Amino acid sequence: MARIIDGKQIAADLRVKIAADVTRLQGAGVTPGLAVVLVGDDPASRVYVSMKEKACAAAGIFSVEHKLAAETTERELLDLIDSLNRDEKIDGILVQLPLPDPIDEGKVLEAILPTKDVDGFHPYNVGRLVTGNPLFQPCTPYGVMKMLEAEKVDLAGKDVVIIGRSNIVGKPVALMCLAEHATVTICHSRTRDLADKVRKADVVIAAVGRPEMIKGDWIKPGAIVIDVGVNRVGDKKLVGDVDFAGASERAAAITPVPGGVGPMTISMLLFNTVVSAGRRAAV
Ligand code: NDP
Repeated sequence: MARIIDGKQIAADLRVKIAADVTRLQGAGVTPGLAVVLVGDDPASRVYVSMKEKACAAAGIFSVEHKLAAETTERELLDLIDSLNRDEKIDGILVQLPLPDPIDEGKVLEAILPTKDVDGFHPYNVGRLVTGNPLFQPCTPYGVMKMLEAEKVDLAGKDVVIIGRSNIVGKPVALMCLAEHATVTICHSRTRDLADKVRKADVVIAAVGRPEMIKGDWIKPGAIVIDVGVNRVGDKKLVGDVDFAGASERAAAITPVPGGVGPMTISMLLFNTVVSAGRRAAV
């Protein structure tokens, strides 16, 4: 049976370290500050934003939330970002996605100062990730890497198969694995013989958004399985992209859903905010 990779515990351990870093920075006169911008009233986004706020408070990070009406214009949003870019108390700016139509998401993300882009979505930061000199790494894929590190998985020379090629998970996690010297295969909806590719993987990272589509018997015995997917089935139950029960019989280690990658995302947001504040303190 596979070892369960306990994302809650890894995330909690990280938050203890982050809180200690916050105390050290406060001693140097710098309190890390995060601004979270929420436009409209998407219920899931509201939940995420409130979780982020609570996590900031617990870590001693100053956070300010800007809740804007769904009718907010792109110009008003860009003006707010401009003022946050210039606010010295703010080290990180996070605009909760998705943004309501007709706001141009790309334009908004590009308006965030790259040195405050704690989500790592600005093209400047994407470029730095591609060239192997990242300033901020996107939180969910960075959380995946921290989990692999906590599990002492050495990626050098390993065959990593990633299912999903989104800008927020699949592509950045591929670049991060490449930076750790893995041989990376990125699969997507047009990939042929997906099962065949997964069967060859030492490490499988699933970020698709389709309940249990990766079957247990696709997993190579002894592989590491990281399931980023979060899918609601029925009224309450959450499942990942991987058939957890089947995969657990073959994998060496596997992340559960919930309690796997999910808790890491917010920890990495706090981590990036503190890194940003550390840069301010060093100036
Ligand atoms: P996207 O919808 O942006 O991307 C999904 C990817 O899966 C696409 O690249 C798509 O391919 C690929 N795909 C779809 N169907 C198939 C298929 N049948 N076979 C192979 N590949 C397929 O999703 P995200 O990357 O944003 O999120 C992925 C999952 O991760 C979701 O469940 C999401 O909820 C979860 N998630 C969890 C987070 C967390 O835990 N904190 C944070 C972010 C996401 P193509 O490009 O060809 O369309």
